[in-house]
Order: sequence, then C-alpha cells, then structure tokens
Amino acid sequence: MPNYRPGRAALMWRPAGDDGTAECLLCARACRIPPGRTGFCQVRLNHEGELRTLNYGFTGALALDPVEKKPLYHFRPGTLTFSVGAPGCNLDCQGCQNHGLSRPGPDFAPVEAPADLAARLGQAAQAQGADSWSFTYSEPTVFFEYAQDLAAEAAKAGRPTIWVTNGEMSPQVLKSLDVAAMNIDLKGFTEDFYRQVTGGRLAPVLDNIETALSRGVWVEVTTLLIPGLNDDPATLKRLAAWLAGLGRDVPWHVSRFFPRRRQSSLPPTPLKSLQLAREIGLSEGLNHVYLGNAPGFSDTLCPGCGHALVARDGYRLGLDLLSGRGVCPACGRPTAGRWT
Ligand code: SF4
Repeated sequence: MPNYRPGRAALMWRPAGDDGTAECLLCARACRIPPGRTGFCQVRLNHEGELRTLNYGFTGALALDPVEKKPLYHFRPGTLTFSVGAPGCNLDCQGCQNHGLSRPGPDFAPVEAPADLAARLGQAAQAQGADSWSFTYSEPTVFFEYAQDLAAEAAKAGRPTIWVTNGEMSPQVLKSLDVAAMNIDLKGFTEDFYRQVTGGRLAPVLDNIETALSRGVWVEVTTLLIPGLNDDPATLKRLAAWLAGLGRDVPWHVSRFFPRRRQSSLPPTPLKSLQLAREIGLSEGLNHVYLGNAPGFSDTLCPGCGHALVARDGYRLGLDLLSGRGVCPACGRPTAGRWT
C-alpha cells in the first residue's frame, strides 16, 4: 500500500548502517532491525528505515486495580490505580502467565489511535477516582511512547505513575521516566537462569533496580519462585543479601508459581519453599518480605517492635495505621514507604 506508514513514529532509536537497519534503544536487547522486520518484542517495526511503534493506543488490558495488586504494599495503600497494558514484551518467559498479551505474534497489526486518546483515558481515570496510573500487565518499556503520553495526562491531573516492569529497559529509558513507584521483577539471580528461562539478562535488571532507588523512586521487588529453577536456598541468600545491601527497607515479594505455557509440567511452588525464602530474606536483613499468590505473610509489621501496621486480606486492607503518619503508633519508628 503506497504511502501507508504503520503505527506511529518511535522514539529512542538510531540508524545503524547504510542498509536502512535501525537500532532500537528502548531495552537491553538493543535490537538491530532490518527494513521490513520487527524487533524481538514484535511491536517495533522498521518501516523503510524508520522505526515505528505498532502498539501505540492498542489498549490490550485496562482496569481500575487496588495498588496492592501490582504488588505495591508501601505505596499509597488502599488506593485504586488506573492500569493500562499494551501488547508485546522484550522477554519470552517459559512460564509467562500473560502470553496472549505479551507475545502478540507476527501478524499483530497496529490500530489507528485517535489523536486525543490519552486525554480521553485521562478523563476516564479521573471519573473513576483513580489515585494513580499504572503501566502494567505486559512490559511498559515496549509501549514507551504510549505510556509517556498517558503519564503526561496523569501529571496534568496531579496523579503519580507506576511502572510494573521486568527491569530490562535501557538506562536512557529509565532516566527519561518521571515515575513515582516501580515494582521490578528480579526473576532469579544468575545469568544462566535469565538466559534459559526468560530469554533476558540479569545484569541490566540489577543496574536498573539500583538506579531507580538512587533516583528516589519507590521500588518494590518481586521474585516468582519456580520449583527447581530459582528456589535454591544458596542463590536466594545471595539475592536477598544483595537487595538488603541496597536498602533493608526495600520490600521483597516472593510469589507462588503456577504451571503455565512451556512450564506446564512443573508443580506449583510448595508453600514451605515460599516460607523458607521469606526466612532467608529476613535473616539477610530485609525488613519486609511478603508472600504473593499464597495465604499469609502479607501484613506490614513494624521492623522495630513487630506491631501490625497494615493488615491485608487479599487486596483489601483490614487495618492501616501508616497512611498519613508513616510511623508505628506503638514505638514511634518510621516505616519506609509513601504513606500519603
Ligand atoms: S524494545 Fe527491546 S525487544 Fe523491542 S525492538 Fe526495542 S530493543 Fe528489541
């Protein structure tokens, strides 16, 4: 079709050679994409030497979620976050729980998003009483342009934004974000695990967790514990010690795996493995280790005296002694977080 240019002009890329190849600068893969091809994420296309984003405005998932669902337990608890996800991902996790969205396939076609789409979603978020906006469900790095336009609408409304991410974005992307909070996956703690099970790399994730914390972003970290693949106690001990070295107050969510996709023959994570991981995290100095997709160990306790400060029943709060205060009423010790 002459003169038809699919998608929208992409940001964060550069020409790479005389043959029209484009290098995408969004994530650690740094795909070099020849004309007519897409990058690993399947949603960035080299169209005649120009990189285009194919998922701008393609809202594959949209919901008003409790912020606890991200999971963020120390960020504005009990509030609702307007949550948007678009197709594509820069990883290919064997057990992806969302692969209908994350791997849209080679036939994925862009939509023509209305020019005022971000503004209209902004109005919807305000009408529904969203306290914040989250870019989530898939990987926001690969819908960067769309997420940035939505974040601008959130900023106009005075709402903070959240990224729920695998942490594989490039340093340029991380630097460009005006984000209040992130939940970053730390899927394992060896390069072998990342390469074999996710198709990604560990080193960029570690760098990005460290950078986000140093920039004052509120960061919580999630590890999905997969039986036999990343639940070795010695490795978990190294992971927890590394995290505690960045800050003992970084909350660590240890989440239960259920069989999916190319890992459908594995069993669900035994509860005792989750509890052992939690004990390892605490013994390595972390103040807050939570279990996900499993009963119990979801309350926030004062790291000083053990007093229950926030009690959770699923995503609902049964008690919240921190919002508006941030200190334990029993011993006066502050608990790290954003307790607005
Ligand atoms: S976002 Fe990452 S995976 Fe997608 S094209 Fe760019 S470098 Fe490749």
